[in-house]
Amino acid sequence: MARYTGPVCKLCRREGGKLFLKGQKCYTEKCPIERRAYPPGQHGPAQQRRRKQSGYAVQLREKQKVKRIYGLGERQFRSLFEHANHVPGVTGENLLIALESRLDNIVFRMGFAQSRSQARQIVRHRHIEVNGRSVDVPSFRVTAGDEIAVRPKSKSLLPIEAALEARTRPTLLDWLALDEKQRVGRMVRTPTRADIPLPVQEQLIVELYSK
Ligand code: SF4
Repeated sequence: MARYTGPVCKLCRREGGKLFLKGQKCYTEKCPIERRAYPPGQHGPAQQRRRKQSGYAVQLREKQKVKRIYGLGERQFRSLFEHANHVPGVTGENLLIALESRLDNIVFRMGFAQSRSQARQIVRHRHIEVNGRSVDVPSFRVTAGDEIAVRPKSKSLLPIEAALEARTRPTLLDWLALDEKQRVGRMVRTPTRADIPLPVQEQLIVELYSK
């Protein structure tokens, strides 16, 4: 899958708000969006002055925002949406729950990585076990009761130690439990929409994909 490798702050500026794509570093480093609160590029300042966005543009931007927060490509995001659309419940909420249940997101939420992109790399490099078995697939869907652990030989890995130390803001949510010393955590229960602190209107994404 093609993955965006350019400057992530540009993505925040494009979406017109802080997406915290650098994870914990966003709280300690200077945030470019505070100095240049307009879209990137030559015509960025002009775009900001333009007339009101169309309904379609608002829906599209909301979808792009969520995709960028979780670092997914269009195809992966679309397939998660299809899954969310076919399981019982509210599609928008199902989508966010599926995104939160990805292994890379859980590793980030537990504090083993400073950002979701770093979490993805940690998973890819086989430093994580799910229920005692090594898993190197960032999109792996974690379910309630699953135990997520750093592999024994990776427990003192520098990036993981640094991430746990650098936690200026707690990322661990109610539906996750963590034994920081042992580097082991568990998904206690499936999250609900109320458990996901994401300022997005998921209904707009459903409307966009339902056209
Ligand atoms: Fe976004 Fe963080 Fe960069 Fe600010 S510092 S623009 S929140 S990635």
